[in-house]
Amino acid sequence: MSTLLAGMAAAPGIAVGPLWRYRSRGAAGMPVVAIDSRAQAEAAIRRAAELAERQLAELAARLRSSGHPGDAEILEAQALMAVDPAIVDDAIRHSRDGMGPVDAVLAAAEASARVLAGLDDALLAARAADVRDVATRIVRAMSGAPTDLPTEPSIVVADDLPPSLLVDVPPGLLLGVALAGGSPTAHVAILARSLGLPAVVAVAGLPDAARHSVRIGVDGETGEVILDPDAADLQTMADRQAARGARDRAAAALRGRRATTADGRHVPLMANIRSPQDATRALEAGAEGVGLFRTEYLFLRRQAPPTEAEQTAEYRRAMEAFGPDRPVVVRLADIGGDKPIPYLGLPEEPNPFLGVRAIRLARNSRELLLTQLRAVWRAAGEAGTTPRAMAAMVSTVADARLLLELRDEARADVVASGAACPERMITGLMIEVPSAAMMAPELARMVDFFSIGTNDLTQYVLAADRGNAALAGLQDALHPAVLRTIATIVAGAATAGIPVAACGELAGDPAGALVLVGLGVDELSVEPAALDGVRAALASVALPELKALARRALAATDAETVRSYVREIARPE
Ligand code: PEP
Ligand code: MG
Repeated sequence: MSTLLAGMAAAPGIAVGPLWRYRSRGAAGMPVVAIDSRAQAEAAIRRAAELAERQLAELAARLRSSGHPGDAEILEAQALMAVDPAIVDDAIRHSRDGMGPVDAVLAAAEASARVLAGLDDALLAARAADVRDVATRIVRAMSGAPTDLPTEPSIVVADDLPPSLLVDVPPGLLLGVALAGGSPTAHVAILARSLGLPAVVAVAGLPDAARHSVRIGVDGETGEVILDPDAADLQTMADRQAARGARDRAAAALRGRRATTADGRHVPLMANIRSPQDATRALEAGAEGVGLFRTEYLFLRRQAPPTEAEQTAEYRRAMEAFGPDRPVVVRLADIGGDKPIPYLGLPEEPNPFLGVRAIRLARNSRELLLTQLRAVWRAAGEAGTTPRAMAAMVSTVADARLLLELRDEARADVVASGAACPERMITGLMIEVPSAAMMAPELARMVDFFSIGTNDLTQYVLAADRGNAALAGLQDALHPAVLRTIATIVAGAATAGIPVAACGELAGDPAGALVLVGLGVDELSVEPAALDGVRAALASVALPELKALARRALAATDAETVRSYVREIARPE
């Protein structure tokens, strides 16, 4: 008899096949390494760390040459972690205190992983798995133990999975992933998505429930896992697969065209990126530019802020990838909130989301934002394109004024240095704080565009911390209170005739994209993987229908009703 388990959808697609149980070896399962002296132990730890670094760098090179630069970057970061003094020196300290080398490495990595896992930022917390993965690799390198591999094409079932396992297994041997742990933002999920492996994470009951199972089916879009699927289950999955295949092929076929509604209204579809490497994937997926370059990611995993020259090079790479005619909007670092940068030495705050975040940093850390703005001016000068920048967490007219002042001061510095500098910067404000929405007409007169951050707007309108799982039900950007705020922003922008973009997750959800365009949002910026779905959704509905949808949505009393309205007009899947 088949058993249905529910998890979270993490990478789309359906897979059915034999189970391969992956057991990560905890400290108890780790090989014993015979070491006679402390000096030998230190040397063994260092040698193993260096070997692990080399293995990871080789894997990364394999990924890079097979056209997966984003994934290669993850392994390159792991390669650095393998020789990170925070782990290696700490392990050596433990070993001097009398711990065996295997335990010493695991303890050092565990301490680092715990710090990461304790951070509020889901992406950073997910890096804890990377650190543990690196430790396993160092320990294996110490003992020469081989990596476990499936013997036939299989679906891997585990508590959690080291991300590098997915690329260690030769192509074709892995069909899908089903995990008890993980999250949709964990690296293993990100890698599964880019390798095209269907994945379901956070499956309650795994791996115990699968103790006696032989085959398994995973649906990475519904989050369903079926143990020992019967004939009826197999038929259901085959039918779904056929329907989705047709849908995805139709959506991907629209890539070469500009995104339009069914009646031909162009809705520029841009990408959200975190690094210039993401720009390649965004271009392949048909992005018309970058609507949100989250530059704070350039500040992470370092001991000091990136220099002006380093930042200039990064922005320039992204700008050059898109060329002079496709915009790249650089969002000044959104530091603070759930993205603290320890080396900046900023004071701890009781409520960081209501604290000194993003543009608010400019008052005490003026040089940080000036450096960024100088780098944007320089990069655009070197790339021969028009610079575009925006600030997050703007809540007052004074914030907007400060941004313009910094922008002009940065330009004066660049000009004084004798470097090529464009005449003007297209300057925008992220509208994600309710006070900015209320002041939209005044703010709109000061800048060239707005970009609505629906993630933060939702948390601030509904007073629900976006990182608090207990309040997940309140973090729904389709709530009419959020939609009414968006309508206020659009109306405010219209009084000054400036365009409005949306770059929060709502824009990447096909249902959200339809409502946003109906509300009068001009442009959408989404994760590269979401571009096809949004483009296809827009193509299926005409603008008057979207406007009617938006009117109904504004009059609704809850997000579920809004979703039901979208289902009435959206193209059936
Ligand atoms: C947002 O808040 O919607 C947004 C796009 O910015 P971030 O998610 O980086 O805060
Ligand atoms: Mg935000």
